[in-house]
Amino acid sequence: MTTLPLPGHPHIAYQDNALCVEGQALSALAQAHGTPLFVYSKASMLDALAAYQRGFAGRNAQICYAMKANSSLGVLQVFAEAGCGFDIVSSGELERVLAAGAVPAKVIFSGVGKTRAEMRQALQAGIGCFNVESTAELEVLNEVALSLGLRAPISIRVNPNVDPKTHPYISTGLKGNKFGIAHEDTLATYQRAASLPGLQVVGIDCHIGSQITEETPYLDAMDRVLDLVDAIEAAGITLHHIDFGGGLGINYQGDTPPEADVLWRKLLAKLDARGYGQRQLMIEPGRSLVGNAGVCITEVLYLKPGEQKNFCIIDAAMNDLPRPAMYQAFHHIAPLAPRAGTTTQYDVVGPVCESGDWIGRDRDLAVQPGDLLGVLSAGAYCMSMASNYNSRGRAAEVLVDGPQAHLIRVRETIADQLRFESRIA
Ligand SMILES: *Cc1c(COP(=O)(O)O)cnc(C)c1O
Repeated sequence: MTTLPLPGHPHIAYQDNALCVEGQALSALAQAHGTPLFVYSKASMLDALAAYQRGFAGRNAQICYAMKANSSLGVLQVFAEAGCGFDIVSSGELERVLAAGAVPAKVIFSGVGKTRAEMRQALQAGIGCFNVESTAELEVLNEVALSLGLRAPISIRVNPNVDPKTHPYISTGLKGNKFGIAHEDTLATYQRAASLPGLQVVGIDCHIGSQITEETPYLDAMDRVLDLVDAIEAAGITLHHIDFGGGLGINYQGDTPPEADVLWRKLLAKLDARGYGQRQLMIEPGRSLVGNAGVCITEVLYLKPGEQKNFCIIDAAMNDLPRPAMYQAFHHIAPLAPRAGTTTQYDVVGPVCESGDWIGRDRDLAVQPGDLLGVLSAGAYCMSMASNYNSRGRAAEVLVDGPQAHLIRVRETIADQLRFESRIA
């Protein structure tokens, strides 16, 4: 029997030599909806969420799904119905979560470049907290709130200056990043915030990076943040919540990140030891809730043998799966119906006219044109980063929920793309 290269995936597995999501054959879904096609397992998302919920059992904690990882409406709905809050980074994301049924008070707004219009919109929607990233933003938010006769609930994103030991493009908590307020400026910034009449200080937050696979950076960041909490509260400013951000990694290629509940058992022990165990806690996981819940199905178009390399050309590309081109990221690629026989080593590439348009390098595959492949770990930072480069329409998406397969996004047509454009008059 064929096994999936990623262990520990009860909901994405081979059954009778056919790759299935929650028991549904992916080839049947590809037949019904075409390729490239993203397929998500609802059970897999809820399992990932449950690990955090177990970790926080008995605590005053709010899980805010960082929706930039996958902001498709049907995915957001799963998390809204499970009681999650949301971490947003734009007014577009605010509109999306509200459309998905989120409770505005459980929405927090991160990001270094919030516009005045976005601030107004979020204040009027009644979101729970603005995670402010600079003193300049603090002043503008104060003005905007006063102009509406409101007070903006705020948290300041602090930069704990710890190395998350991940890819430089997804490390955010080091000096030299554009994110957050430097550790040494934090107290003064809180004092300024507390003096502004349009603001109400409610919390503190940090987010040190993404695809973190070790626990030490989290433990170090927590110590650094709690040192700041000590100092801020000693200055008479009360913090109702402490938000430790997201960033927990997933298994892409034999990665062994800590389980969410195991990690949080350790972090909570530290919080308890430092006297903050009863404080309201917030976290902002993105990738770890959805990354391994998704598969992108793609068809082999051509095999192109070469002197140095053989190419397996597929119908999905960097516009659908941008992570390899952006971060040299690895995704396992698994045939939907594995063939017996010898394998050949291929670079698996898309049709886009860029040498950076590869999905996997040096992969041993037994494939023929017309075969279907599943690109694994495609639930996070794939569809939400998809583009129309080369005028390619964005893929369709299906959410599998046991025996049901919900089409949550139809394939984008060229008419959809041209709708926003016009010839010159
Ligand atoms: C992207 C982001 C997250 C989520 O990160 P993951 O690595 O997907 O868990 C959380 N908080 C903030 C502020 C972010 O920018």
